[in-house]
Amino acid sequence: MDIHEYQAKELLTGFGIQVPRGGLAYSPEQATYRAREIGGSKWVVKAQIHSGARGKAGGVQMCSNDREIWDTAETLLGSRLVTHQTGPRGKVVYRLYVEEALDIKQELYVGFVLDRKSERIMVVASAAGGMEIEDITADRPDTLMGVTIEPAVGMQEFQAREIAFGLGLESSLIGEAARTLLGCYKAFEELDASMVEINPLVVTGDNRLIALDAKMSFDDNALFRVPQVSELRDKSQEDPRETYAADRGLSYVGLEGEIGCIINGAGLAMATLDMIKLEGGEPANFLDIGGGASPERVVKAFKAVLADDKVQALLVNVFAGINRCDWVAEGVVKACHETDVNVPVVVRLAGTHVEEGRAILRESGLDITIASSLAEAAKSAVSAWRSATKH
Ligand code: GDP
Ligand code: MN
Repeated sequence: MDIHEYQAKELLTGFGIQVPRGGLAYSPEQATYRAREIGGSKWVVKAQIHSGARGKAGGVQMCSNDREIWDTAETLLGSRLVTHQTGPRGKVVYRLYVEEALDIKQELYVGFVLDRKSERIMVVASAAGGMEIEDITADRPDTLMGVTIEPAVGMQEFQAREIAFGLGLESSLIGEAARTLLGCYKAFEELDASMVEINPLVVTGDNRLIALDAKMSFDDNALFRVPQVSELRDKSQEDPRETYAADRGLSYVGLEGEIGCIINGAGLAMATLDMIKLEGGEPANFLDIGGGASPERVVKAFKAVLADDKVQALLVNVFAGINRCDWVAEGVVKACHETDVNVPVVVRLAGTHVEEGRAILRESGLDITIASSLAEAAKSAVSAWRSATKH
């Protein structure tokens, strides 16, 4: 789960990290009020969406009076920001964060991630902050430092100081930089984060070290034990298709194509997506109904997939081991009666009770294409999609 920048800053403040003074706003009048509350003569109005790279998309604006703050807030609120991290659908701005603008002398990068290869938390740092980590890796790999943390002892003071020195900071800032790094590590561990990123961590004109931007993601499977994090969930920032499915216990990932997929098992789902692409189609989603799926569960899966109005054809592919083809078939028939299925449906069943399952489909009188192999199913689904959309 991702959270907003202002929420990450609030959490990190609790671990001793210095952040700019700021306040949340839901309206232009509130934004100007926040600026007055903060004081000073320059402010930054920042769109709160679950994405980085907002600056380049116009989501981070410098303002020097009430009028500018008001106009910026009015433009941003309710708008859809498309960054190169959001995908083409973008994310709608419902909240703004107004901050004192700082005089920046230097921008650094600090990130904490899970390194799957070493199975350790890894600190990545660079003196070339401000740009995205992908760009630093490509353009300034010479500035990148990576340090893995030994889980049995946690991050050590000497490691934090080593990174601080590696960033080229002057001696008066080494202590504060080490405290910042150790604070991020503690937050990562205690809050079950999967990512903590401060980009940029800045040195100000008056030589203070401040987290100008902060991003945190969390392990969904640990949310039950960190209520102070789980309560920060903002569904408006999630793919509505994924939220709908997740709330119904389905494993669903939204994609950009038009062929809806209902499949059992992640491996078969991946293989099916590959087969669809091989045939020249584009899947609209990844959906795993899991083992032992009841007819009701199949109905829920249909509803989740059809909630995406881009879907132009539907492929059900079930290789039943623990599952039962007759239950799946019953679910398909029930779904066709209960929901307004106005796209062609292709079903491939194999395994436990396959004959009973196929019979249920045949006798239903519904216009369903029954395929006998994965290859045939993918081919039928793609050609059904082609004739439905004239592709
Ligand atoms: P992101 O684009 O989503 O990563 O948003 P950031 O919060 O990182 O802001 C993008 C960029 O805006 C930063 O790298 C800074 O260069 C600039 N910026 C943000 N706040 C300030 C500020 O208070 N003062 C100055 N001078 N620049 C700022
Ligand atoms: Mn940033």
